[in-house]
Amino acid sequence: MKKIGLISDVHGNLHALLAVLAYLEKEQVDEIWCLGDIVGYGAFPSECIEKVRENCSIILGGNHDLAVAGKISFREFSFDAAVAGEWTVKRLNDSEKEFLASLEPELLVKLDGRSVLLTHGNPANPIWDYVFGRFDVQRAAYAMEEKGVKVNFLGHSHVPSIGYVRNSEVELEVCRPGETLTIFSQEYDAVLFNPGSVGQPRDFDWRASGAVIDEDGLVKLFRVEYDVNAAAEAIIEADLPVFLAQRLKSGS
Ligand code: ZN
Repeated sequence: MKKIGLISDVHGNLHALLAVLAYLEKEQVDEIWCLGDIVGYGAFPSECIEKVRENCSIILGGNHDLAVAGKISFREFSFDAAVAGEWTVKRLNDSEKEFLASLEPELLVKLDGRSVLLTHGNPANPIWDYVFGRFDVQRAAYAMEEKGVKVNFLGHSHVPSIGYVRNSEVELEVCRPGETLTIFSQEYDAVLFNPGSVGQPRDFDWRASGAVIDEDGLVKLFRVEYDVNAAAEAIIEADLPVFLAQRLKSGS
């Protein structure tokens, strides 16, 4: 089985992305899959698009990518997210926007003969909906059953987590770095894994988050330190909302 690096929600944070790519290079992964939201919030959207395209073999589109590309509206975004989105629209050239417009929020792939559903958000509504609690896991599991898959990798919530349905028990647990998860196990009826966010973690840990799926199908979550002060200063210098700089440092 191939060794896969799994990343999501880069959000224009080049400092965090470079630290994660360096970590994955050391881990000698065969491929990197990106679950969406390359842009939005951070000060380096073009640079992040370029690095993700260079390094990732699979790239999904998140709500921020698709809104910046003009495919969906900013109307449902929070105020700061919409301001950062409009800022990003002005920064990107046409070919970068065309690239974002070409991304899908959902893709069914094979990993070692197993079907894996990749989505940005909840498989029940992969552009917009989150998996934050057990009811979201149940809803996702229904959508996965319809599509005939038991394993889902997703992003969007910016919280590294594993959700599962097992003998009618439904759980959602936050994952900690170094934890090894056996998600390709027969005991699950449905299992959802979120590698957390590269560029804007929201689990009160400021370090960039990601995961590696190794040759045995074990999933390991990792966190890497990066120059968070430089990323935050760049947000302020770019005249983006100050809150977006502050939340990077608190991981919230
Ligand atoms: Zn996001």
